[in-house]
Amino acid sequence: MKKCCLSCKKELQGRSDKKFCDNHCKSAYHYNKSITGEARFYNKVDNQLKLNRRILKNFNKAGKTTIKAQVLIDQGFNAKFFTHYWKSNSKNIYLFVYEYGFLKKTENNVVKYILIQWQDYMLDT
Ligand SMILES: [Zn+2]
Repeated sequence: MKKCCLSCKKELQGRSDKKFCDNHCKSAYHYNKSITGEARFYNKVDNQLKLNRRILKNFNKAGKTTIKAQVLIDQGFNAKFFTHYWKSNSKNIYLFVYEYGFLKKTENNVVKYILIQWQDYMLDT
């Protein structure tokens, strides 16, 4: 079976364990692979942030509310992805996805999120 270079797709000569024509093709291949991997990760994070924001926005029309965490998770919410945080006077750390914030709280063994909206004063506190 004929083998082709993984980078330029030209047919390979010589040793059967070769994957590339030369070092140039080898480094080009690895460089492209890392760029694609980076883009894939960037898009994954970007999409999750957008989804998180949309979910928080949908469930926080009043500006402040408390909701069962599972309701958000069912919609695809992932609390690992947020843009920044704000520490309240009571030392609670709210995580934000752009202008929508959330704080995890367990009440009677039910995990909930307190949802708030970003206010300008939060930048200075
Ligand atoms: Zn090649």
